[in-house]
Formats: sequence, C-alpha cells, structure tokens
Amino acid sequence: MYTRLLFASLVCLLFSTCQTPDVPIPATETLYIFPYQSQVDASNINCGYKAYEWGGDQLKGFIRNRSTEISTEELMALGQEIHNTHLPFPVIAHERAIWLEDIVDAMKPHLVKNDFPHYTYVVDAPFLNAFTIPGGNIYITSELLDAVQNKHELAYIIGHELGHNENEHTKELALLNRFIERDDIDIWKRVALKVGSGICNKSDELECDIASIYLLEKAGYDPELALGGIDLLRHLSKAPEDVVERVLLGFFSTHPWSDERDECVRAYVKDNKVTVGCAKIYQSTGIINAKYSSLDLYRYPLKREDLRLQQLSPNESVHVVCTGVHQLYQSNEWLYVQYQNSEGTFLGWVNKRGVDIVE
Ligand SMILES: [Zn+2]
Repeated sequence: MYTRLLFASLVCLLFSTCQTPDVPIPATETLYIFPYQSQVDASNINCGYKAYEWGGDQLKGFIRNRSTEISTEELMALGQEIHNTHLPFPVIAHERAIWLEDIVDAMKPHLVKNDFPHYTYVVDAPFLNAFTIPGGNIYITSELLDAVQNKHELAYIIGHELGHNENEHTKELALLNRFIERDDIDIWKRVALKVGSGICNKSDELECDIASIYLLEKAGYDPELALGGIDLLRHLSKAPEDVVERVLLGFFSTHPWSDERDECVRAYVKDNKVTVGCAKIYQSTGIINAKYSSLDLYRYPLKREDLRLQQLSPNESVHVVCTGVHQLYQSNEWLYVQYQNSEGTFLGWVNKRGVDIVE
C-alpha cells in the first residue's frame, strides 16, 4: 500500500493537475449504442432463431445456385409491374402520407444499400398491414396508418420494411418466385420451396426488427416509443389469404408477432440503452492503477471496439474524475478518468474492476 501511495504521490508531482484536476465533468446523457446496424444476421442474435436462419441460408443458397443474378434494374421493373398491375387495394391520398416520406428521408442517409428511391404508398384496406416489394416501394394500409399513435411507431414499421431491402430479402424472394415459376419445376418442389421459405421468414423478420431499431434511432426517433409499433402489429388482423397470396406473390408483409420475437426486440432496446455521466465526482485526486494488461479506455462505457480510445498497460496510472452513473442493464461499473501518455491526454471510461483506487 505504501508503495502505491508513494507511486501515486510521484505521479501527482509529475502531473500537477492532481490536487485540482482541470478536467471537464461530462454532462449526463442517455443514448443507445446498438451493436447491429441495418444489415443483421439472425444467427448472431441469441433469441432462438439460429435453426430458422440456418434453414433460410440453405434454402437461399439452393435458389441462388440455380438462378442467374437479378439486377437492380430488373428488381425495379418487377416492382413497377407489381405496383401497376397486381396491387390488391387502391392507392389513396392520406393526410399522414407525408409522415412516410419524412421517415424514409430521415433513414436514407443511414442505409447501406441506396439502390432504390423507396417510394411510399397508402393503400385503402380495412386491416393492419405494411409490406415492401422488389424495387423498394413500401405500402401501408390506411387502417395501420390511422392506428399509429405517433411517428416513432410508424418509423418502426418503415424501418422494418427498409430492413428487408438492406438484407436482400426482397431480392432473394424475387429469385425464389422466379425459380418457382420455371416450367421445369414440378409441383411438389414448388410447394416445398414455398412452405420452406415461409418458415424461414421468421429469422428474416427478426433481422428487420433489429435493423429497424438502428435506423429509427439514427433518424432521430425514440426506440422505446417506437416499440408501440410492435403492440400494434401484435393485433394485426390477417389479410384475406386468397387475395394476398394471389396478388402479392408472397412478397413481404409484416407478419403476426411471436412472443419470443417481441421479447427479443424489447430486450435489445433495453440492454443497449446507456446513461453516461458522473454519479460520484472526485474532488481531490483519485489515482488508479491498472491491475490488468489491456485495460481499455472507452469513449462510452461499453465494450465496443469502435468506442475504444486507448489501451492501458498494467500499473499505469490515471486520474479518476468520477464514478459513472449506475447502469441498470449493464453489469460493469465504470470510472471516468484522465489518462496521459506520450501521445497526449485522453478522457474516457474504464472498467472499475480492472483498477485499484489509491486516493
Ligand atoms: Zn417483414
């Protein structure tokens, strides 16, 4: 202990900021740091969808290996054809239609794939639903648009539909439909592929939920308010099977929610909400000695590679600025520190468990 105190004093002499650390106290802010962006692989999300994802990958591989590539132009032409001749319900004007455009505009800068204009349409239909087609058009029923409480909920639905394009689901399904239509495919294979694709859609839907959470937050909407969109879709009444089956060619509509999918998305939002700020501020000097090698200094108190500022070697010392606000959903406790080395001065968060505090 004496050695540590001596060491701490020496560091204080070397860095004259010890007695009155001239470091800014970070303002408290609540933010979301989501591990996934708009391209998501359901097999990496621990929500029991691995088998569906595996099945989906096999099916998509089977189709892809037997198909020629489908171009952006072909997808847009297919979308145009569906829009012009196969929509089961009339497109109508709606006073909230501007919301759809606003949301798409706000999400667009955050899309990875910007192949399509993503036109949005309201269709006059007496049930809750939304869907997207190859070429990126998004359709929402008037009933669903009337039912959303706010733009946040609508953003959840739009983000989900954009997610189908970001993750190439619409393209895969266009390939599937083209394959099934081939003359040399027998009826049983058609049925098997159709049923198989329906089952494997489960993981696609989860991917789009997770993509939507990222997109809507980036677009300035509130993920927690947006979860109301899930509640709405849980009450989704199914569209008449024959019409949808016949006319929409099985392209994506939002599907009835499963409980595990609901839980998964809610937990995802909850677990990635972070409050960053100081609870206990150290007025005098808090010197900490790193106990472990590779103690990381983060921009925010989360273990994310892209948020890492510096690595601290064992026994390196830093000034403690404060103890972080307790995180409801994160098990680690954090210290906000000032760290100096030959490259400069760094302010950031370290895991409390990796350090000894010597005051
Ligand atoms: Zn969907």
